[in-house]
Amino acid sequence: MTPHSVTLDLGGRTALVTGAASGIGRACALRLAAAGAKVRAVDRDAEGLAALERAAPDAVETVRLDLTDLAAAEQAAAGVDVLVNNAGLQVVRPLEEFPPDAFRLVLTVMLEAPFRLIRGALPHMYGQEWGRVVNISSVHGLRASAYKAAYVAAKHGLEGLSKVTALEGAAHGVTSNCVSPAYVRTPLVERQIADQARLHGIPEERVVTDVMLTDSAVKRMVEPEEVAEAVAYLCAPQSSVITGSSLPLDGGWTAH
Ligand code: NAD
Repeated sequence: MTPHSVTLDLGGRTALVTGAASGIGRACALRLAAAGAKVRAVDRDAEGLAALERAAPDAVETVRLDLTDLAAAEQAAAGVDVLVNNAGLQVVRPLEEFPPDAFRLVLTVMLEAPFRLIRGALPHMYGQEWGRVVNISSVHGLRASAYKAAYVAAKHGLEGLSKVTALEGAAHGVTSNCVSPAYVRTPLVERQIADQARLHGIPEERVVTDVMLTDSAVKRMVEPEEVAEAVAYLCAPQSSVITGSSLPLDGGWTAH
């Protein structure tokens, strides 16, 4: 079992994690379960959800849901104490070739669904004067990269949504923050290597060093468990004054 650096007791709390079937979302779900939370794991990937449930059978309740169903997304968030907006996808194309449908899909899943989930979660959080919203943004919520128009736009929007949630939630004991990693070792990154190679005109084996790690001073990918630990930190009682912030896990990328 991975050692945890944050002491966190979420016994009696419910935490909803979107995109929990894979990568960062799975790591967050398992971390919050280890803290004692009942985890409502939302994803459209039934197989990944089943695998997660096998890993933490007593703590995880799976909800198979496509987040483009915005009304269902809002409903799923009712009654949760912790909300982790994590689900996402990447489309890598130059602007003039960027399919408008793909642009809309990315904005729907990564910005509009988080808005609806927050909207669904806040009444219960406000009612009990406690809640934690953690939005998995990205270094691309703070910096742009070529060929990622929809993703960069969605993540910049998510950073703004998170700040507004922080301002409105403060009087009700609700914090909202972003965690903003550089490249994390997940299937989302593996899937974009071929596109990045083609668009940058380099072989696939050079994409990690020549594209993904060029702006990071720390020359390695982030691990999903490191992102999950940052989420745990933002849920801890000692973090109640941290709100409206964006915590970069970016190896120094935004120090440039
Ligand atoms: P991943 O592809 O491993 O997991 C994403 C999950 O989201 C999948 O399980 C997928 O099924 C789910 N999902 C996507 N669209 C959905 C929809 N319409 N309805 C329901 N579920 C849906 O990706 P990941 O790398 O773990 O990414 C998780 C989050 O972290 C994303 O928001 C991503 O932007 C962000 N992020 C990733 C990296 C990285 O380098 N991997 C870096 C910074 C931020």
